[in-house]
Amino acid sequence: MINTDVVIIGAGPTGLFCAHQLGIIGLKCEIIDNLNKIGGQCAELYPDKPIYDIPAIPECTGVELTNNLIQQIKPFKIDFHLNERVEELINENKKWKLKTNKGKEFFSSNIIIAGGVGSFEPRKFSVKECEKFEGKSIFYSVKDKAIFNNKKVAIFGGGDSALDWAIELSKSSKVFLIHRRDEFRGAQSSVNKVKELQKQNKLEIFTQYQLSNVTGDSILKNIEIKKEEGETKSLNTDYILGFFGLIMQLGPILNWGLNIDKKTIPVNTENFETNLQGIFAIGDICTYPGKLKLILSGFHEGALAARGCFKYARPNEKLKFEFTTTSKAVKERLGIKK
Ligand SMILES: Cc1cc2nc3c(=O)[nH]c(=O)nc-3n(C[C@H](O)[C@H](O)[C@H](O)COP(=O)(O)OP(=O)(O)OC[C@H]3O[C@@H](n4cnc5c(N)ncnc54)[C@H](O)[C@@H]3O)c2cc1C
Repeated sequence: MINTDVVIIGAGPTGLFCAHQLGIIGLKCEIIDNLNKIGGQCAELYPDKPIYDIPAIPECTGVELTNNLIQQIKPFKIDFHLNERVEELINENKKWKLKTNKGKEFFSSNIIIAGGVGSFEPRKFSVKECEKFEGKSIFYSVKDKAIFNNKKVAIFGGGDSALDWAIELSKSSKVFLIHRRDEFRGAQSSVNKVKELQKQNKLEIFTQYQLSNVTGDSILKNIEIKKEEGETKSLNTDYILGFFGLIMQLGPILNWGLNIDKKTIPVNTENFETNLQGIFAIGDICTYPGKLKLILSGFHEGALAARGCFKYARPNEKLKFEFTTTSKAVKERLGIKK
């Protein structure tokens, strides 16, 4: 059980800057995110696209903004819990007990939900039998490519992830690249490369096919792929990789007793607390009259929510308003010795 002052759900720009605001007022926090990387939408959806409306930064990409936010919270040595989706939130003696899908538990007087448009989840195969093999022979991301060495791997998808992994795994595995359309969507250089590898018999490409069945007991043995007009093929396969992009789901957040309005959480604008005491919502996931779904709004909301947490985390202390330029305590927290 991890005890802390605040748990932040979501490592997007809002959650990251809120961690900074908690740090400068002397509160500890832990950050949990379902993705395997920090940065939320900026890192996942537009890492290389320039953003032009971050105050005092005329232009920066999604990844640059994320890296700067990470740099800014370095002094607070915050622990990130990535690849973990928060599933349960239970009230215990006016504090909150929180559990992730990996079984990790947190205990805290405050929870800040900075969950954006929900957790990013991979789009999955619609074939029911796939569930049985998920996490064993069927994957939607690659954690350890060594498991595919000298195996037969069926890669589904037409975008960059499918093409990149087909190219990479063809070096040490037998690869079938399967796409439901004729044309691939990925970078032209990657499309050319897979076609070249096909000519050299280093991988096999099947277009206009979709997965129609999987068979095997505990271990995957065969897959069946099917064309729209009905033609089928059976392929002896050890592993399946599916790259169909991500969907966003509020998922478990809907079950925590929070008021929900059109997939967002209504909050007050004094400290962004929800209908539940000690639970705050900031960034894209919160709503109030005039809400703008912009990064700069998330920063402001995080600053006020952090101060809102103080009274529950330190009920016997009074929070003093201080400037970072002049406060000795803040400079100490930031590790500044001047
Ligand atoms: C293409 C594009 C361009 C954009 N351009 C701009 C721009 O120019 N300027 C601007 O201001 N804004 C822009 N935006 C909007 C901006 O990206 C969002 O406003 C911002 O990302 C919101 O930040 P957030 O931290 O609130 O949420 P997000 O960035 O969505 O991060 C939320 C995080 O919470 C995680 N999460 C959710 N639920 C759970 C759970 N149960 N357990 C664990 N983790 C969870 C998610 O995995 C996610 O990583 C753009 C958006 C897009 C898609």
